[in-house]
Amino acid sequence: MLRGLLMAGGGVQLLVCAAMAAPVAPTLRMYSQQLEVEYATADDAGRASVDVAPVYDGRDWAFSARWDDCSLNSLQMRQHMAKFGLKGTFYLTQNNAKNNFGPEYCKELMQDGFSIGGHTMTHPKLPELDAGKIWWELCANRVGREDDTETPLNSLAFSYGQFRSDKPEAFLMISEAVRRTGYHHCVYADFVRNNPNLAPGEFSTGCQVVPGDKVVDAQKFQADLEKPVSRSPEAYRKWSHCIFLGVHAWQAGEEWNKLDAVFQTISGKPEWWYCNQTEWAAYARQVTCSELKAEPAEAAAVARRYALSRPVPGDLGTATPLTCVIGKANVKGVKLDGQTVPFETRGAAVVVNLPHGQGQALPQRIGHIEVPTAAQALADSLECADFPGLKGLLVADPAQQKLSLTLDAPTACELRNVHIRFRLPLQYEPGIVIKTLDSVKAGAPQTVDIALPAPKPEPFWSEGPQYWVAEIDFTGPTGAGRLFVTRLVP
Ligand SMILES: [Zn+2]
Repeated sequence: MLRGLLMAGGGVQLLVCAAMAAPVAPTLRMYSQQLEVEYATADDAGRASVDVAPVYDGRDWAFSARWDDCSLNSLQMRQHMAKFGLKGTFYLTQNNAKNNFGPEYCKELMQDGFSIGGHTMTHPKLPELDAGKIWWELCANRVGREDDTETPLNSLAFSYGQFRSDKPEAFLMISEAVRRTGYHHCVYADFVRNNPNLAPGEFSTGCQVVPGDKVVDAQKFQADLEKPVSRSPEAYRKWSHCIFLGVHAWQAGEEWNKLDAVFQTISGKPEWWYCNQTEWAAYARQVTCSELKAEPAEAAAVARRYALSRPVPGDLGTATPLTCVIGKANVKGVKLDGQTVPFETRGAAVVVNLPHGQGQALPQRIGHIEVPTAAQALADSLECADFPGLKGLLVADPAQQKLSLTLDAPTACELRNVHIRFRLPLQYEPGIVIKTLDSVKAGAPQTVDIALPAPKPEPFWSEGPQYWVAEIDFTGPTGAGRLFVTRLVP
């Protein structure tokens, strides 16, 4: 992945990697931008190298945290971390019956740049479940928490850290369910690094360092942190440029003070990018799937153009810019789609952060319609709370190999640029089927049918409940939105 190490002046090192021609998932939405760099001379233009940085803003490491489970202690953890400018992600199961861990709880957890990740619905040992339950546990959790937080979820922590058992099909089913759910980051490095069921580069991960869930051990933490940071950074960077804290916010009393002391030692490093896991995952996915190609130019030209192909923010999870490092050349100016972009000279290299294009926005609001088992026709009860008046129905007819989605938009909420991903139960391959519509016009319910692929022959794929999901991205009157229409058939 690393193409070179640029030694910049003043001892500053900038890591770069080639814009990857890595496997772009066929279901990923991509768009193009044009980068234009004006160099000091034609010689500069001729010898310049333009690369994508593996960490945002050309930093050495991304630094994050993962804290698991619905726990009131997590609110305290967030405050302790925020005091030191640290960020991270809370991995949540579903809300409880008392509503202690719903949207309000998420909102509190997400202050100061923290985010939410998936941790299954009910915290089961996934390898003990059948295919239908594995799929529902993972996918329904992502749907529910996107609805609660109005933000995309791209990162997963397995409940009990379990994704394998002595049944070989368990690992196979769980891997397939995770990728089909729409995640592309997992905190378990072993799941990402040693998994023949994932495409190369399909998932990102990181190196976990643990200060101590109940008893904080600062010495052990520092020793563990030194391994990636100073002892063998190259070995670690071969598989991730992210280091993160974990695992549980179980500290109490004096342990919080000991944790503060640890946080003090890792805060304020200008060479680290303090980010949540959602941002790290989105950035890593961008690096893997973006492509930067120089366009043909006259040898005497001082300005050079590069075609940038990159995934849309809604599929990445955040709208974090993509960092380019321009080496071996003096730069006079940088433009992206004709707009001037600031750049910074650091030693011998130039660092430029490329924002996403105008009109490429994350969903501002995410809604969910849960279709009851008995529903057969559009009804007022199938209205989305997040998009008033918008109704949806999902009907599966496996015997006829048919899945039907019906959308009904009110006058106040006409949908444009409608992109539908049907996420199918595990026995179907391909597991994600895409349909697009120019619009769903007001007052005219529109139905989209897909033919279900033939089920896989091994019976284990078809066991358990059937969970059907339509994930609909669109542009509405108030901007980008996402709607899930789901149906659980027990
Ligand atoms: Zn847990």
